[in-house]
Amino acid sequence: MTAPKKSRKSKKKNALSVFLGFLCVCGLTVVVVASYVLFNAISFVNGDLAIDLEEYKAKQNQTSFIYAYDKDGVVVEIARLHGEENRVWVDYDDISPYMKHAFVALEDTRFDEHHGVDWKRTIGVIVKPSNIGQGGSTITQQLIKNLTNQSEVTIVRKFNEILSALNLEKNYDKNKIIEAYLNTLYLGSGCYGVETASEKYFGKDVSELNAAECAVIASITQKPTKNNPLLNPENNRVRQLYCLEQMYKNGALTKEEYDSACNYELIFTNSDKYVPDEDSKVVVEEEKVINSFYVDYVIQCVRDDLMEAYGYSKQQAIDEIYYGGLKIYAAVDLEVQDILEDVYVNRKSFPELYSEDEGIPVQSAMTIMDYNGRVVAIVGQAGEKTENRGLNRAANSYRQPGSTIKPIACYAPAIELNLIHYSSKIRDYAIAVNGKLWPHNVDETLGSNQNVTVQYALQESHNTVPARIINFDLGIENSFTFLRDAFKLSRLDEKEDRQLAPLATGALYNGTTTVEMAAAYATFGNGGMYYDPYSYYKVTNSTGEEIILSNEQPKGHRAISEETSDIMCELLQTVDTSYYGSGSNVRKFQIMAKTGTTTNNTNRWFCAGTPYYVTAIWFGFDIPERLDVNVNPCGKIFITVFDRVHKGLPDKEFPKSSGTIEKKYCQVTGLLASSSCTSTATGCYKINSLPGTCTTCSSFYTPGNDQDGDIVDNIISGIVDNIIG
Ligand SMILES: [Zn+2]
Repeated sequence: MTAPKKSRKSKKKNALSVFLGFLCVCGLTVVVVASYVLFNAISFVNGDLAIDLEEYKAKQNQTSFIYAYDKDGVVVEIARLHGEENRVWVDYDDISPYMKHAFVALEDTRFDEHHGVDWKRTIGVIVKPSNIGQGGSTITQQLIKNLTNQSEVTIVRKFNEILSALNLEKNYDKNKIIEAYLNTLYLGSGCYGVETASEKYFGKDVSELNAAECAVIASITQKPTKNNPLLNPENNRVRQLYCLEQMYKNGALTKEEYDSACNYELIFTNSDKYVPDEDSKVVVEEEKVINSFYVDYVIQCVRDDLMEAYGYSKQQAIDEIYYGGLKIYAAVDLEVQDILEDVYVNRKSFPELYSEDEGIPVQSAMTIMDYNGRVVAIVGQAGEKTENRGLNRAANSYRQPGSTIKPIACYAPAIELNLIHYSSKIRDYAIAVNGKLWPHNVDETLGSNQNVTVQYALQESHNTVPARIINFDLGIENSFTFLRDAFKLSRLDEKEDRQLAPLATGALYNGTTTVEMAAAYATFGNGGMYYDPYSYYKVTNSTGEEIILSNEQPKGHRAISEETSDIMCELLQTVDTSYYGSGSNVRKFQIMAKTGTTTNNTNRWFCAGTPYYVTAIWFGFDIPERLDVNVNPCGKIFITVFDRVHKGLPDKEFPKSSGTIEKKYCQVTGLLASSSCTSTATGCYKINSLPGTCTTCSSFYTPGNDQDGDIVDNIISGIVDNIIG
């Protein structure tokens, strides 16, 4: 009976020792991990500089440059970017001494005593973690936050911030730290740093501010809008008085100074009493340089590429561009850009149209590219350019492309898949869609109900024929896929645009831009390659290091075969451009072209190319409204601009594919002509996918016999209608 007892006891003992052992292991692990973390933390704090304030300051004052190559390949400066954003760095000695006291009073009363971290406040936060976002941060920690742009609140980030703050204080004296802090913090109204803020709010240099004014600026910090002295002076006043009181309590102000600061009448730059100082920077703002649309476009492209490459926010990327000392080598062709701007700045280049309600003048935009993705010129507005980085319609206004979509959504894909050829006969008549006949042609009829060739339908911009090709042959999915993957329209709606109307007539849900359309049409003049549009060759930083992958090797993919490209180029050359102007220089060259009108007549487009350049042009109101024009204004712009651009250029032709051949076809059947066919024209075909030869004509008469062509044509049309219809 005793044995079990004993055994139970020993079991208990065993369990106890296992538990103690476990505790030991746990304890040891905790000690090891803690020592490891502590060791690393101490090494970090005592180690190399985590954030180099001198380097940061230097970066703040660096000008970036945009260069271009002139016609002799010499690098020329086309823009310098500096100071557009509201930011000026001032040294500690040039900041009113009250400024430091005001910020210390509100943000970090023990700033002069601590070593980067105010442990008393930090522990307060740890005890009550819900406070983590609100307080506990010293000025040094806030500076780290401003410099690293990390705003998310996590324990790990907080821990790193503490270590960085301790590290910073080991390496810099307090004056350096407060200087960096006062120069980098955000103070509302787009102002970074105390200098721009004092210019903005008081029209004075920060060295001239008194205690009352410094307290106003310090009061903005935590709530830049709510406590903005121009927008909400009452809120700011409450905080300012509190700030002055704290300054007095801390001994930064005598009783006398405190009283006079409280009673001081503040005069802000938006007050009636404000009299601008002659030296005030607010008044003597340098005359602003207005950059070209190309410069705006390059900045936009570099910004987007920096965001993608480094995960920057928009603001970080723009800061890098304006203050990072970058050198951007733009791909602009200066002469073409000059011509384009010269035509566009003159409103007489355009029909005089104003929107009905507001009387706002009509707009236009144009992009010119070469055939390897290089954007050689871009203009995003008709009339004088008055601001930098305003709306660039050429790259950023997404509009319905109308009939200019047909070559890329219908004809090229259908030829690529050998579903149609140059002279395929398709019935020019609307189809039944949801019980209604659709679409109408430009002449507002449902079509001639005749069979017309693909060439003729494209030339006349029939809506009926592409609707039929997509509906009966190509299919919506193929059409959509070509637009998205081969021609890279970026804003296709996966649902709304997977339908017949947007694909056949260009009524796209989100629309497209002239940059995208020019890049898509380039495939018809370069043997079928799509190249991503680019506006710069390379970007280097202040040490000369390339920071974004260069565009010196254009990035391309095959969109369509050489043969399809060749045939499309031939087809587009049959579009008549004669009523847009004579243009003796440009008409020496082959011209491929396609016009575009959206169904409700609110957009006009023109996509066109010569062997040298390809372009897309848009014309319309910013808020879509019916356009009262007869001749497409974009066509006139095309001839005007391209005629000047092509002056003196040597002969050049579009590339020809060895896989295509020119053949005579029968205009009656659209098949290759036999010797019996009387009505023929020349088309361009894939050698390995030739249409059959016409046999219809020969069954009615034998070669050599003189026949009455009219009668034969009529009989044959009737037969063909019966066959196809
Ligand atoms: Zn025939």
